[in-house]
Amino acid sequence: AIPVITIDGPTASGKGTVACRVAAVLGWHVLDSGALYRLTALTCIKRGIGIHQVGQIADAAAYLDVVFKGDEILMHGQDVTAAIRQEAVGEFASRVAALEPVRAALLARQREFRQAPGLVADGRDMGTVVFPDAHLKVFLIASARARAERRYKQLIEKGFSANIDEISRDLEARDARDSQRLHAPLTPAQDALRLDSSALDVDQTVNQVLDWYKD
Ligand code: C5P
Repeated sequence: AIPVITIDGPTASGKGTVACRVAAVLGWHVLDSGALYRLTALTCIKRGIGIHQVGQIADAAAYLDVVFKGDEILMHGQDVTAAIRQEAVGEFASRVAALEPVRAALLARQREFRQAPGLVADGRDMGTVVFPDAHLKVFLIASARARAERRYKQLIEKGFSANIDEISRDLEARDARDSQRLHAPLTPAQDALRLDSSALDVDQTVNQVLDWYKD
C-alpha cells in the first residue's frame, strides 16, 4: 500500500507546518484535511446556510469545487487561501465538523489524496478514521500557552491585530468542541506516538517524525 504518515492534534499545535516540512523532505503529497472543513464552512457562510441546515451543509461538502495548487487553494477558480484562515471561518468549520453527514461526505475525497510515492495527512481523525492503516501515526501536542503564543505571532506577522487572552479562550473552546463531539472526536489513535512540541522548534519536531518513520 502507498505509505501514509498521519499527524493529528489540537488546534495550533503546529501540525500543518510539520506535515508540509515532512512531506517536502520525503517528496510526498500533503493533505490539509482542516482546509476541507474550512472550505465547507466558507461556502456555507457565503450562501447564508446556517448550522441547522445539515442537508445543505453536507451537500456543500460533497460538491466542493476545489483545487490545491502548490500553496494556493482555489475554489470555483478563485483564490481562497487567505479567506479560509479567518478566525470566523475556523470557528464555523469546527461546528460543521461535528456533523456526521459532513464528515461522511468528505471521507472519500480525503482518501483520494493517497497517491504515490506517499502522503502526509494532518487533521484530527487522520489516524483514527481516515487512514487507520497508516505506517506512522503522530499525535502532536503543545501546551495551551505555547499554542496561543504561536497563533498570536502568526496573526501579528500577517498584519492582523490580536489579543493573546482572546486567542487562548478561542483555542480552548475549539479543542473542547473537537474533543467532546460524538463523531470522530479528537483523540489519539491507539497506535499513535505522542510528540509534545512545546519546547521544540520546527526542525526538531520534523526530525523526530522522520526518525520515527525510518525506524
Ligand atoms: O486544522 P484546522 O484548524 O484547519 O481545522 C479546522 C476545523 O476543522 C477544526 O477545528 C476541526 O473542528 C475540524 N477538523 C476536523 N477533522 C479534521 C480536520 C479538521 O474535524 N481531520
